Amino acid sequence: MSVSIKTAHEIELMREAGRLLNIVHKELAAAIRPGISTYELDKIGERVIRSFGCVPNFLNYNGFPASFCISVNDEVVHGIPKKGRILHEGDIVSVDAGLIYKGMHSDAARTYGVGKISPEAQQLIDVTKECFFRGIAYAKEGHHLHEISRAIADYAESFGYGVVRDLVGHGIGKALHEDPQIPNFRQKTRGIRLVKGMTLAIEPMINAGRADVEWLDDDWTVVTEDGSLSAHYENTILITDGEPEILSLTE
Ligand code: MG
Repeated sequence: MSVSIKTAHEIELMREAGRLLNIVHKELAAAIRPGISTYELDKIGERVIRSFGCVPNFLNYNGFPASFCISVNDEVVHGIPKKGRILHEGDIVSVDAGLIYKGMHSDAARTYGVGKISPEAQQLIDVTKECFFRGIAYAKEGHHLHEISRAIADYAESFGYGVVRDLVGHGIGKALHEDPQIPNFRQKTRGIRLVKGMTLAIEPMINAGRADVEWLDDDWTVVTEDGSLSAHYENTILITDGEPEILSLTE
């Protein structure tokens, strides 16, 4: 396994990629409402990405047919946007987005409530987001990868939630998915030692019920096996010798 260390120039490009991706997420968040289809959201987001002169990195990735992964309720990740998939009041929707800016990738995901949602659904969304922040408390030079995984798992499991094991976070840079893999569950080994200049996509995927997932017949959509709700939160971050810099969460 080789984990790439980014040059100052590459980091500058990834910072811009992350800044633009944050704008894409804000536009999508503003568009989410009961009655809109996941297809419409995909088109709105794609228009924003292309307005920056960027390319959506999920489009055609291993044949993925859309620019965003949009996953509703018990769908964990990799939902395919569809004209017939209409969002309803009370749904939760996970939007995973990525773009390429001058050859460098950015990747980030958020889960939103559609209209008024249940307190249970809101708690799942909030805890999943907090899992990310618990994890990156260890995303510093000198720490080991397993500390991030453990912090995410400990927090999610303290609520009785299931931590998805079949999908993991990843390094990111010139490619969307680079080494290392970043599990959200406890590891038996320490994993790599983190070094300044690594860029990582840390992405807890948390189920309200059990951790088990399955793939739908479209070969993309991952759903919870027990039908429970699932939430996702992800940012692209930069390891520094101090606090990590969250590249895809800027104001
Ligand atoms: Mg990712």
